[in-house]
Amino acid sequence: MNNYFIILASGQSKRFNSSKPKQFIKYKNKALFEHSLDKALKSKLFKKIIIVTNDKKQIKKKYSKDVLIIKGGKERSDSSLIALKFIKKYKPINVLIHDAARPNFTIKLLKNLINSLKKNKTSIPVISSKDSIKYKVKNQLFNLNRKNSYLTQTPQAFKFKDVYNLSIKQKSKIQDEATLFIENNSKLNFIKGEILNNKITFKEDLINPKTYFGIGFDIHRLVKNKKLYLGGIKIPYHSGLKGHSDGDVILHAIIDALLGAIRKKDIGTFFPDNKNKFKNIRSPKMLKPIIEILNNNNFYINNLDINLICEQPKVSKYRTKIINSLSNLLNLDKDLINLKGKTVEKLGLIGNEKAIACETIISLTQYD
Ligand code: ZN
Repeated sequence: MNNYFIILASGQSKRFNSSKPKQFIKYKNKALFEHSLDKALKSKLFKKIIIVTNDKKQIKKKYSKDVLIIKGGKERSDSSLIALKFIKKYKPINVLIHDAARPNFTIKLLKNLINSLKKNKTSIPVISSKDSIKYKVKNQLFNLNRKNSYLTQTPQAFKFKDVYNLSIKQKSKIQDEATLFIENNSKLNFIKGEILNNKITFKEDLINPKTYFGIGFDIHRLVKNKKLYLGGIKIPYHSGLKGHSDGDVILHAIIDALLGAIRKKDIGTFFPDNKNKFKNIRSPKMLKPIIEILNNNNFYINNLDINLICEQPKVSKYRTKIINSLSNLLNLDKDLINLKGKTVEKLGLIGNEKAIACETIISLTQYD
């Protein structure tokens, strides 16, 4: 194992509208560059990891002695040359050069790159473009054949000797080391890159949808001569649930879970039970305005899990019907809804078939 990993974190982030250089902004709970560093450390593939930066003060954490922090240059190509010169004394065999702005590569990609260096002098991850590409020469536009076009990513892997020799001779600025090889008519070997290994370039690249959870619980007494409603449908049974409304414990627990996830208090705040206008209200009608709040605020439901707690009726008999009904009311795929039946060993009110309870948990995501 004579592999070295260079992380270039000295960019000026001109296209990234922020006071802090983007390599140091927080992304998924850590500084952007740390994602690359942590993966390189975890992979145990490297003798040394070199972070090249122009702002050492931003790196506050202490890392192991195999992580070296050095000062970069003005341009990307200057920084990578500085790093290559710096590691020369260790007599490296393989070197991987990586832009800190790509935090989402996998350790598997690192392994593939290094494996590929057993037979090749270079290994460059590439993907094909999803968009069609045009390019301009003087005033004429050309179509680039998508099949023959490659988007190059980093980390890019090289035999140290080759990339070093080309880099010290290079006079002009280059965007990446693959460019260096092309400009010098040296052979490049491509391997499959990763779609998710995208480069964080603009602030828009950082938009992270937020996920929230809500929990709901409800219980109602069973009384004779009342219709039983569960999950918005009528269930044949000798008793129904007593309440100001139709007593649908499933829908009430769902409403509370939804309100919990969007942080809007509880069902009692929306439907006070001392208000006559809500007397005998059907629960789907109570759910509707809550769904409207979700839609108006760009929330969507990821999944819903339900525990219906009762001795009778048996959930298994009505599961499909209840799930179909919930799927309609919530506008949610059936396979994102789970309904479990739970008895209580004949204990207490529920065990004596005097009440039915329900608990639910729901996950929501909010997008912009
Ligand atoms: Zn209720």
